[in-house]
This record gives sequence, C-alpha cells and structure tokens, in this order.
Amino acid sequence: MTEHAVVIAGGGPTGLMLGGELALAGVDVAIVERRSNQDVAGSRAGGLHSRTLEVFDQRGIADRFLAEGKKAQAIGFAGVHFDLSGFPTRHPYSLGLRQNHIERILAGWVDELKVPIYRGIDVTGFAQDDTGVDVELSNGRSLRAQYLVGCDGGRSLVRKAAGIAFPGSDPTISNLIAEAQLAETPPEWGIRRDALGIHALGRVEYEIRNGEIVYADHGPVGVLVTEQHVGQTAEPTLSDLSAALITVYGTDYGIHSPTSISRFTDVARQAASYRKGRALIAGDAAHVHPPDGGQGLQTGVQDAVNLGWKLAQVVKGTSPDSLLDTYHAERHPIGARVLRNTMASIVLRREDERTKALRDTIAELLGMDEPRRRFAAMMSGLDIRYDVGEGHALLGRRMPDLDLVTVNGTLRLYAFLHDARPLLLNFGESGGFDITPWADRVQSIDVKYGGVWELPVVGAVPAPTAVLIRPDGYVAWAGERTRLGLADALATWFGSPTA
Ligand SMILES: Cc1cc2nc3c(=O)[nH]c(=O)nc-3n(C[C@H](O)[C@H](O)[C@H](O)COP(=O)(O)OP(=O)(O)OC[C@H]3O[C@@H](n4cnc5c(N)ncnc54)[C@H](O)[C@@H]3O)c2cc1C
Repeated sequence: MTEHAVVIAGGGPTGLMLGGELALAGVDVAIVERRSNQDVAGSRAGGLHSRTLEVFDQRGIADRFLAEGKKAQAIGFAGVHFDLSGFPTRHPYSLGLRQNHIERILAGWVDELKVPIYRGIDVTGFAQDDTGVDVELSNGRSLRAQYLVGCDGGRSLVRKAAGIAFPGSDPTISNLIAEAQLAETPPEWGIRRDALGIHALGRVEYEIRNGEIVYADHGPVGVLVTEQHVGQTAEPTLSDLSAALITVYGTDYGIHSPTSISRFTDVARQAASYRKGRALIAGDAAHVHPPDGGQGLQTGVQDAVNLGWKLAQVVKGTSPDSLLDTYHAERHPIGARVLRNTMASIVLRREDERTKALRDTIAELLGMDEPRRRFAAMMSGLDIRYDVGEGHALLGRRMPDLDLVTVNGTLRLYAFLHDARPLLLNFGESGGFDITPWADRVQSIDVKYGGVWELPVVGAVPAPTAVLIRPDGYVAWAGERTRLGLADALATWFGSPTA
C-alpha cells in the first residue's frame, strides 16, 4: 500500500493551497482529485479579496495572480460598495480573476513543489485507527496516511464518512448561472431585481476602466437567473435556463450554445466539527453558503493556511496532536461569520417594501465611517483576529507587511514568510532574544522599522519591540520592552524546547 504522511481528498482551491503549505513544510503529502485535469466546470469564484492576496504574498506567489487579474473595488454588503483605498495593506482592492485561472495558477505552484496529484480518482471511503488512516480509492487501491483532510467540496465524502454533522438552513432560493450565446441583444444589460430575486445579464469579457467594469460589445454572455421553484435536484439543462429567462424577461433572447450551466442555492450549512480524530475538513467541505460577497474560495484558502503548518508540526512530531484542535477553534467562528453575513445578504435582497426599508436603513448605517470600515474589513478578511490571549493589539491579528531594514538592506516582511516558517522579529537591541531551544524551528531576525504601526479598523497601535509570527502570518506574541510570555508562546505554538 502506498503511504503518505497526509492525503488530501480534493484538489480545488482549498486542497491545492493545503498541498502547497504541507510541501513547503517538508511533509510528504498527496492529493487525490476526481477531475482528470484542473478545468473548472461552470461559473464559480470571480476573484480574490485583500487578505487572500496577502496570504499569497506571504508565499511569494501574489504576483502570479496580479499579472493575470484586474484590480477593482468589488467588496460590498446590502448593495453598498466599499472602497478599500485607504486601508493599511499592500492590496487595498479585490482582484477580478475567474476560478479556473486561480486554480491553474495554484496548481502550477503545487506542481513546482512536487506534490503528487492522483487525478481522475475518487476517495470512496476511509477507516481510521490509532496510528493512521486507510483511504479507499475508486481505482480499487488504497493509500495509508497519518491524516486525511477532506477538501472535497460541499458534498464532502470525508465529512459524511467521518460522521461529522452538517447543521444549517435548507435552500429558499435557487439560481441558474450559465455562459451561452444570445441570438438577440437584450435592451438592457446588468442586474434586475424583482419579487422572485436577482437576475443579471452581461458579456463574459470585460475590462476595468477607471475602476468601473466595462463589458465587451460581443461574445458569450453570462446569465444569472433566479428560478421560480426551489428543490430541483437534476443537472440543469438549456431548457431549464430558457424557461427561467422567459419567466423573468418574457423571452429567452434566443439563448443557445451554452458552455456551462450550473445551479446554486442559498443553502447555508457548517460542519459541527472541523476534525474527527485523524480526519479533518476544510473549505466548502466544512462550510457552504450563498456566494454573496465572494467569500467561499477566500475562506477555504485561509482554512488551508491555518491548518497547513499545524498539521505539518504534528506530523513531524514537533507539536502534540492537540494543536490540531486550534484549527477548529480558530476557523469555525470565521466560517460562522461568513454564513451569518451571507444569510443576511440573501434576506436583504428581497424586493418587498419592508425589506427595501431595511436595506435602505442598513445602507444609511454603512454610509457612516466606522460601520463602513468594519464591514469592509470583515468582507475582505483583513480584520480576522484569532484568540491567542490578551495583550498587545497585534495579538492574533495579521502581521502587516512592513518594509524592514535588515543587514541585507530593506526587505518586505512577507519575504521572510515565503517558506512558511515561524518568525521572531526583534526591533530592539540586536541579539536581544536568545531562542536557541527553538532555533531549529523558528527564524530569529534583528530588524529596524521606523514607520507607523497601523492595523485595518483598529488604527495606529504601539510599536512592539519584538513579535512572534506564525507561518500563517498571524501574531502569536508581541512584546513591548519585555520578553514576558515569549517562551510560553513559543512552546504553545511551536513545540517544546529542545534540551
Ligand atoms: C456561482 C458561484 C459563485 C461563486 N463566487 C465566488 C466568489 O466570487 N468568490 C469566492 O471566494 N467564492 C465564490 N464561490 C465559492 C467557491 O467557488 C468555493 O467556495 C470554492 O470553490 C471552494 O473550494 P474548495 O476547494 O473548498 O471546494 P471545491 O472547489 O468544490 O473543490 C473540491 C474538489 O474536490 C474534488 N472532489 C470532490 N469529491 C471528491 C472525492 N470523493 N474524491 C476526490 N476528489 C473529490 C472535486 O472534483 C473538486 O476539485 C462561488 C460559488 C458559486 C457556486
């Protein structure tokens, strides 16, 4: 039987990111993927938000996405658009880039890291024992691993086979999303709202000019249409699409030659636990919700970045298995928050007078500075704070990508995170910290920084004299002229000191 330290079921955005993270940490990981190639059927994510771009920057791969995507201010809530321009991040915008391109770029990175992907194969079941997991495959073979991670999407086999409950709300709305040709040009492009819900017609090809989306004047058309009835389970067809268009627009504009048709609903469910013994779940396998705000892929990629280094340390024996419980503790509340804001967004889409009044009221609130900044930071993922204890405002928050003065010149902080290793930055007297008992795991660097310390929403924070940064870019400890608590933080997050 072939063995790997970790087997990942599913090579979508979450599985690919996790594969990359584990490979960077030197873990023997393999991905089992149902699709025979990385093509994405149907229309899915349309871009990346600020924190996901930062996460890619931490690994030195953001430029690959930036080279292909289009920057835009694309974050919003309840019909209110937010401009991130003043936010303290190198990426105060979203990047328009379709999921098929995002996956292709991620797969290229994972390939460079030499992660094997068993393609065209399903994980069909698994059994775990005290020392590992036997993973059954659709080709009749099996793999042995210390841990199995289900990144296998909303219908996750790993989640179901692990017996993890998936509570939440059944769908109330059903949408068709498609790309096709229209024989007739509609009198108006763009979004239409009615009692049924939201609908949209627009050319697939577009440009962003002066921050505005400008659609091409020919070529395939992207269609979003709300269906009259919920609960269809069969794969959607061209005649379903035509019927839905006729219901809403009175005509189907001669729709033909679809290249994709898919259905999505406002179902919102979250796994009760992200872990059952040696089986873990991440991404859509752990949470499904409406696509409002474009948060699904971002949340999955960030789940993977939270889990990757922890799983690597457990597999290598650096940290106890209990470190994996912090993955659920930190990421479940983030997923729950995404469910909450997407469910609220669905309700606010209704077109009755009372809902319109509520939407207008919320829009008025979001016109105010503080609520607008808070929502923009939430929707872009820049405000995430994990509970790593009380103290300095940086604790548990993302480390800003500062320009650091080092012995090798000025370098961006994120450059030190490219290989996904923990990092102690000493801004004080050089040689001020001796972390020899962790030196095999934690990089320690003396740097200088004379600029302001500013966090999204929080604003200016006092300059620390040292910070301990986890491989996912979150601050595990910050000291102001003290080393109090540093040894505890090192042991908690990066294992016992070596003698
Ligand atoms: C219409 C629509 C629009 C969206 N827009 C956005 C957006 O703008 N922004 C955003 O962030 N998100 C968006 N999303 C959500 C986003 O597409 C998902 O959240 C994202 O794809 C989740 O990634 P994942 O890797 O967790 O799961 P998936 O992308 O579902 O990948 C799961 C992978 O597992 C494989 N697989 C499944 N079962 C098995 C098995 N048993 N064995 C082996 N392989 C298996 C599948 O083939 C697939 O490759 C949208 C979704 C929809 C439907």
